[in-house]
Amino acid sequence: MTVPSLSLIPDFDLTTRNTLALGARSRLGVLITAPEMVPTLLSEAAADGFALRILGGGSNVVLAPDFDGVTAMIAIMGRRVVETGAEGTLVDVAAGENWNELVGWTVEQGLGGIENLAGIPGTVGAAPVQNIGAYGVEVADVIETVTVFDRDELRERVFAKDECAFAYRDSLFKREAGRFVVLSLQLRLPAVWVPNVSFAGLSELGEGAEVTPRAVMERVLALRGSKLPDWRVTPNAGSFFQNPIVGAADAQALLAEFPTAPNFLQADGRLKLSAGWLIEKSGLKGFRLGPVGMSERHALVLVNYGGAVAGDVAALADHVKRTVRERFGVQLAEEPVFL
Ligand SMILES: Cc1cc2nc3c(=O)[nH]c(=O)nc-3n(C[C@H](O)[C@H](O)[C@H](O)COP(=O)(O)OP(=O)(O)OC[C@H]3O[C@@H](n4cnc5c(N)ncnc54)[C@H](O)[C@@H]3O)c2cc1C
Repeated sequence: MTVPSLSLIPDFDLTTRNTLALGARSRLGVLITAPEMVPTLLSEAAADGFALRILGGGSNVVLAPDFDGVTAMIAIMGRRVVETGAEGTLVDVAAGENWNELVGWTVEQGLGGIENLAGIPGTVGAAPVQNIGAYGVEVADVIETVTVFDRDELRERVFAKDECAFAYRDSLFKREAGRFVVLSLQLRLPAVWVPNVSFAGLSELGEGAEVTPRAVMERVLALRGSKLPDWRVTPNAGSFFQNPIVGAADAQALLAEFPTAPNFLQADGRLKLSAGWLIEKSGLKGFRLGPVGMSERHALVLVNYGGAVAGDVAALADHVKRTVRERFGVQLAEEPVFL
């Protein structure tokens, strides 16, 4: 097998490669189209003393205006059904594939399991990093293994699902930021599909035989389209803050004062609150600061109205966090990664 050679592009413009459309350049950019290119890139970057960061579709990042290093964009393609049997269907998919296209491809084959995650932008390789989730499903629910290149141990490794430390918007790959380059995923889709339609907006689909993965996917796409501003029109990174999870005592105090605050009991007894509700009730829905603002359509979505850079985003994020903390005593945390 021949390994594609590294083609480093100087002064690489990333403004159209992040969904917030932040002005951003990298000293060098490189497209990674084969797993074998990763160790070569690492040794060349180390030899030249360059910092190296990994980028997928740029839909969950706040990029610095000038990165003095190499930005490696993961574009390793390929997807196939490995086996189908009583244990379900095993699908192998490379990190550079588009997540939403993967969902459509599985649904076309009548395979259920990830239809609730339709419409999430970005690459397959980034999906386990923050354990993407929507409409009651997380990617961790279907992950069998994650194959990575470990930058500390300089070797390829395969993590089984229970070694990935998956949690709400969290994983080993996020906690040890920068250490692992995700190369591919193996997903186990169930042999007997049961629709997950418990989430508001999906329940009217019912649970009868007429409900198909396609019907759920289409409903999810319609719901997302009706709620979220389109990042191609109004650049954004989806939910900008994680839903905060607070201890039972703090939650009870908050609920005594604000009984209508949405809350969801977690397995460990803590309560997950709605970051969007907290921001809206802090009067920040539609609030603007310079070229950025919290969307008028969805309080949780930070949007770029044009010409913003990372500093503008950070200033608004700080303002939102401070205002919510002062009003509700709750600390919000950003969902996108500042790179
Ligand atoms: C409109 C909109 C809606 C969204 N809705 C949702 C949603 O419903 N649920 C949800 O969970 N998220 C959502 N997101 C966030 C985002 O789409 C996901 O987090 C997605 O998985 C990011 O993929 P990406 O390829 O764009 O990653 P990037 O933004 O490029 O990178 C994100 C992080 O992952 C790292 N990374 C990327 N690829 C790799 C790799 N191959 N190996 C190692 N590290 C890697 C990067 O270094 C960075 O730290 C939404 C975003 C937008 C813009």
